[in-house]
Amino acid sequence: MARIHNFNAGPAAMPLEVIEKAREELTDLGGIGMSVMEISHRSKEFQAIVDGAEAGIRRLMKVPEDYAVLFLQGGASLQFAMLPLNLRRPGKSADYVDTGSWATRAIKEARITGPVNVAWSGKADRYARIPKSAELQLLPDAEYVHICSNETIGGIRWTRFPETEAPLVVDMSSDILSREVDITRLAVAYAGAQKNLGPSGLAVVILRRDLAERVPENIPLFFRYSTHIADGSLYNTPNTWAIYMLKLTCEWMEARGGVAAMERENDRKAATLYRVLDSSDFWRSPVEVESRSIMNVVWRLGTEELEASFIAGAKAAGMVGLKGHRSVGGIRASIYNAVPTASVEALAEFMREFERKNG
Ligand SMILES: *Cc1c(COP(=O)(O)O)cnc(C)c1O
Repeated sequence: MARIHNFNAGPAAMPLEVIEKAREELTDLGGIGMSVMEISHRSKEFQAIVDGAEAGIRRLMKVPEDYAVLFLQGGASLQFAMLPLNLRRPGKSADYVDTGSWATRAIKEARITGPVNVAWSGKADRYARIPKSAELQLLPDAEYVHICSNETIGGIRWTRFPETEAPLVVDMSSDILSREVDITRLAVAYAGAQKNLGPSGLAVVILRRDLAERVPENIPLFFRYSTHIADGSLYNTPNTWAIYMLKLTCEWMEARGGVAAMERENDRKAATLYRVLDSSDFWRSPVEVESRSIMNVVWRLGTEELEASFIAGAKAAGMVGLKGHRSVGGIRASIYNAVPTASVEALAEFMREFERKNG
């Protein structure tokens, strides 16, 4: 059966080669007569998988030894809570930049356990852009600065990360491994796996080891980075299946030339859609050009009826996942690493045809 053109926002398309490899090994992982889901997380077979996953992330992102790479449950959302618990000491505050839905969720969670300074907010502007560094009202003694590198719902991204005195903490859930990033400029990068890395229910956390030392005594063990560092992400039973799929996904990326190759292809894929959006007034891009995401391309049409007709027509033509998030409406094409160029070209072609018929 043919694969469909999948523009889902998350969980999202995974590389066909990865799914086929998993199918091949599903009943018998490397000759052991069991699947990866049926073996102990303490077995040598699983240890090789978690080591391989960590090594894959380290090679792809050039992560040095003074950073830990953790695989944790609870998705990116648990990190919204864990980060302030670990990094914001009593009596101190942290800077958050409010660029959209996901930044807002991070702020809401951080406020529950202590003070937050919103250093900039795009809310009044309907989150149409990323701020300039000079616009940020950072505290002189903030424990860290939190940003969301790519707003999955709003379709905007930080093209360049801001220069900050305080450690920079980045939610990279929807653009990790989509472009080259100098990890040594960041203190923490974290991501839910279900956009660019694998199945849901898993978060990757890359954090400078010294930051795990400042956790207050009253934080439960499970919520401490130091616990998971000490036990190599095996403090309790992890999501073994998701870690396995992430390892295969890293191998797939490396075989295709790593992050630099992903970035070149992602730039091309995004440009293909933005070219159509910029070609006539039939399409409206609600975000500033310099802030455009290369992972989540959002647009509007003249009326909601026309948008509904676009989404239904695309579905009939074999393209799914194009409905914008329920909080903002419109149309969104999520074009993560695993979405083939051919799918993006098919969508661009459908768009041109839709405009000819309805423009
Ligand atoms: C999807 C997403 C999240 C939430 O991830 P969960 O794994 O569902 O917790 C957080 N931040 C961003 C930027 C996302 O795209």
